[in-house]
Amino acid sequence: MVQKEQVKVVENAYLIDGTGRKPVRDATIIVSGNTIEEVGKTLDAPRGAEVIDAGGKTVMPGLIDAHVHICNNGDPNVMSIMSVPPGLVQLFGVHNAAKTLDAGYTMIRDMGAPLGFALSLKKGIEMGIVRGPRIIAPGRIISMTGGHADFYLPSGIAYHEMSLISDGPVETRRSARINLREGADFVKITTTGGVMSPTDPVDTPQYTLDEILAVCDEAHHVGKFVASHAHGPTGIMNALLGGVKSIEHGSMQTNETVKAMLEHDAIQVPTLVASYNIVQKGTAAGIPEWAVNKAKEIAEYPPKSLMLCHRAGVKVAAGTDAGTPFNRHGENAKELELMVAAGLKPLEAITCATKVGAEACYLGAKTGTIEKDKWADLIVVDGDPTTDIKVLQDKAKIRLVMKAGTVEVNRSI
Ligand SMILES: [Zn+2]
Repeated sequence: MVQKEQVKVVENAYLIDGTGRKPVRDATIIVSGNTIEEVGKTLDAPRGAEVIDAGGKTVMPGLIDAHVHICNNGDPNVMSIMSVPPGLVQLFGVHNAAKTLDAGYTMIRDMGAPLGFALSLKKGIEMGIVRGPRIIAPGRIISMTGGHADFYLPSGIAYHEMSLISDGPVETRRSARINLREGADFVKITTTGGVMSPTDPVDTPQYTLDEILAVCDEAHHVGKFVASHAHGPTGIMNALLGGVKSIEHGSMQTNETVKAMLEHDAIQVPTLVASYNIVQKGTAAGIPEWAVNKAKEIAEYPPKSLMLCHRAGVKVAAGTDAGTPFNRHGENAKELELMVAAGLKPLEAITCATKVGAEACYLGAKTGTIEKDKWADLIVVDGDPTTDIKVLQDKAKIRLVMKAGTVEVNRSI
């Protein structure tokens, strides 16, 4: 006999469905197994269903963070990861994954973890032996020698567990293949300097078009996409011309790069909170001076680039870069506050962290909105984030978290 799927009904919901549509009251969501079977106004609960009365509270899609480093803790100096045994770094990931889920995030895109740990963490979560959000991960970052993800210290000591240092199209292609062999969901490269790397200027290009094309070619062969860390316009443009579909940070977008973003149907992931935290906390909090100086150098650009993209119709996904200094896992919704401060309406920021977040994971057909046939990834929030976006930062107000039909957190709604 075929086991009947367990049916859950969430009723009496103030529904933000994640599509960008206005919220509706008195909504009912019927969940069968891991899937949303029906969404409507005051639907009758099927017999035998488990009823969850939202009591008029907000029900919205599980939040999605499109850019985290799940194994990094948010220490003032990212180089601190080099002084910790790899096994402990993996445990950081386990700890951070639970904190992220507890904060209402049901999916994350990891953007690089030592030894591709995020891929193992993803498997552990899928096996049910570790609590956490659904993870999409790239394995190790592909960086050029002296590039943003070349963790090489002036002493000559290098930490290469985080990245595959590759030069020339033959090596970048091989590195893409290595990551794909290890089960990467997508490939991550770095096409400009960055804030958290000591010796490269933050905005200058890294990698030639040939090197980028080789990576994208390999990913596309197996139906996967490439994301690129890029701050300055030349590196953004090179990435897009090479076939990159997701621009991480994209701090210095211009009219020209925004046009190219549209032409290439690429997604912008602004990570506003990353440089915000570094500038706010500064050297007094133990952040290296070079990182503070670089963050200050670009600080004015990310909010402007977000709005430039948004107004032009470029898809924008919410991402925090959690794991960078003082950018803690579980505090991911701070990004949405900053997106609103930059000029988005709260409902638009929510769409960045739901529908577009799912699209950034190439899972837009499966999740990101509360609609029929999608995975039942949803949260119940005590408060209205369309009028107060900060409510999403208060864990006590995230009353229930459901991932693929399973209630993962229940703070007694
Ligand atoms: Zn990052």
